[in-house]
Amino acid sequence: MRRPLVAGNWKMHGTRASVDELVQGLLKLEVVPGVDVAVLPVALHIERVISAIESVQVLVGAQNCSVEAQQGAFTGEISAAQLADSQCRMVLVGHSERRQLFQEDDHVISRKFYAAQSYGLTPVLCVGETLEQREAGKTLEVIADQLGNVIRELGIGAFAQAVIAYEPVWAIGTGLTATPEQAQAVHAAIRDQLSSEDGQIGSSIRLLYGGSVKAANAAELFEMPDIDGALVGGASLNADEFGAIIRAAGRK
Ligand code: PEP
Repeated sequence: MRRPLVAGNWKMHGTRASVDELVQGLLKLEVVPGVDVAVLPVALHIERVISAIESVQVLVGAQNCSVEAQQGAFTGEISAAQLADSQCRMVLVGHSERRQLFQEDDHVISRKFYAAQSYGLTPVLCVGETLEQREAGKTLEVIADQLGNVIRELGIGAFAQAVIAYEPVWAIGTGLTATPEQAQAVHAAIRDQLSSEDGQIGSSIRLLYGGSVKAANAAELFEMPDIDGALVGGASLNADEFGAIIRAAGRK
């Protein structure tokens, strides 16, 4: 049985005041048994969020890490070692905004995945196709490539302690959501690809859906057998909306 995970990607949002307000809202949410919850603030706010919510069961993660796992002369970077030292528990790798706006390719993403695991952080590998790729009928091929490249570089064993988020690029921040059936088809293909390498990993890994998830569409997505939770952007900036998504995951 896979335990659902709902993770909030706060992206480059928030001031100290607004983050404190959001955390206060999270603290008021009822704990939903059987659901893991995580929030991913900007690196600057990670320690602030951890110290405010350390008594409740909300994991705190980062949105990015350096390909260099340790400390060193890499101006502006933050290493997995430093994130782990701040009690961070997970890190996004391969988010489409990093792929598209910061030219991160599969090799860079594999290095970040490896760096994260080297310091005990759970990598959340994001994969997803653009609208153009979907319209060209290439969705499954694109996802298989993105995943296959990481498997080739790091080996299937790396996925024993990892999470994958399927995030169609055309659905991120657009208000468009994949239908539950569209999302399920991709999740099933991801699970099949992993299972063909290692049945245990394929059946146990958590596959999140991301792309304009909100309270109004979460439940129908979570009804799908291979959707084990959500990576939530915009809606995670509102504690009540995020809370409703967590509750929907609890009914899975
Ligand atoms: C994301 O950025 O990972 C995301 C899914 O964003 P949104 O929910 O806003 O589409």
